[in-house]
Amino acid sequence: MIAQLISIGNELTGGQTVDTNSPWLAQQLASLGVRCVRHVSIADELEPIRDAIVEASRAADVVLITGGLGPTPDDLTREALATAMGVPLRLHTPSLIHIEEYFKRRGRTMHPANRQQAMIPEGANAIENPHGTAPGISARLSRAAVFCMPGVPYEMKEMWQRGVRPELETGAGRLVQERILRTFGMSESEVGERIGDLMRRDRNPTVGTSAAELIISIRIVAEADHAEACQGMIDADATEIRKRLGDVVYGEADETLATAVGRLLIERRQTISTAESCTGGLIAKRLTDVSGSSGYMLQGFVTYSNEAKSRLLGVPSELIATQGAVSRETAEAMAEQCRRASGTDYAIAVTGIAGPTGGTPEKPVGLVFVALASAGKTIVKELRLGDNLRREQVRDRTAKAALNLLRLSLIRTC
Ligand code: ATP
Repeated sequence: MIAQLISIGNELTGGQTVDTNSPWLAQQLASLGVRCVRHVSIADELEPIRDAIVEASRAADVVLITGGLGPTPDDLTREALATAMGVPLRLHTPSLIHIEEYFKRRGRTMHPANRQQAMIPEGANAIENPHGTAPGISARLSRAAVFCMPGVPYEMKEMWQRGVRPELETGAGRLVQERILRTFGMSESEVGERIGDLMRRDRNPTVGTSAAELIISIRIVAEADHAEACQGMIDADATEIRKRLGDVVYGEADETLATAVGRLLIERRQTISTAESCTGGLIAKRLTDVSGSSGYMLQGFVTYSNEAKSRLLGVPSELIATQGAVSRETAEAMAEQCRRASGTDYAIAVTGIAGPTGGTPEKPVGLVFVALASAGKTIVKELRLGDNLRREQVRDRTAKAALNLLRLSLIRTC
């Protein structure tokens, strides 16, 4: 099955609001095995909306429309759908009662314009809106099942979950389930080389990769008659992928490097502290973004100046003077002194040149030293991230590399 999405509103076409409904709905459709092939945004104008509905209904099995169901004269979705279907609008009494009660419960008087929200095209069905006034609409037009939902994202999501998704699940027949594995430390092409045979398009499950800021995600999508069969197929592929990629797989679904590290620290009852220069506290922020991180993240230093590195951490000023603030030796001393000052099992330290200024031929922008101190051992990693990255990318990649270094140490010393 294929779908098209139409989002309605002047604020979308005028650029004041970014359409977040369509990407969300496209992902929901994908999880049902429905492939979304087109997103369109249309201003609040009757004829263009009607034409878009007619065109989409001829080309797709499912058409999802969001927005334009409000009570004001510029809310035209209802009328456009009725015109596209060639039928009049009729009052849907249960929806009118719902709207009247909605106002009564809030001690407000219903404006006569809200009555318009209870009008739906003849032959169409209303979809309940538990969070707002306007009902949604479901109708058949040409080859498509058409669903109109509110523009307000949380109202739309609620209506989708309760009133639209169940309809499509029944229609789709087979169940589609997915799992996403997250990896760090391998390029997308290398991942592709190792699992290429699993990525053939004619397989079930299908396996695909996508990359975002060095995180390579592997999506496994299985289709079967029931959930256990889907899960069994997904489990088999996930196990095979983990076997081939090893510890570059750090987690699944919404897991981040920081949550993966947090899980490992909790399991091992160990603690961490940070001493940051070029990342300005980003690593501490990522660690403490995780709920429950007070159980393992004890302290973070932002030692941006040379003087702060000496005064707060105790890095010898002669060392900084002879080796430079951005050096293997300074990173090592920062980590060891941070660990000593904080009394933690591990300490991460980073020092580098985030750019765009400050680079020299010997120490270019993107040169970063990441150090990890633990009992009796300090590892230092030199990163050469390149001088073509934006400052925030250098900082982001440094934070990820540091968290990953900690993650690998935790795994390998268990
Ligand atoms: P209402 O009954 O609240 O008027 P509606 O269906 O008429 O609902 P719109 O008036 O089109 O919805 O949109 C209401 C608000 O919802 C917009 O101002 C905007 O902030 C948000 N919104 C609408 N469409 C989208 C979208 N596609 N993505 C993100 N936000 C949206």
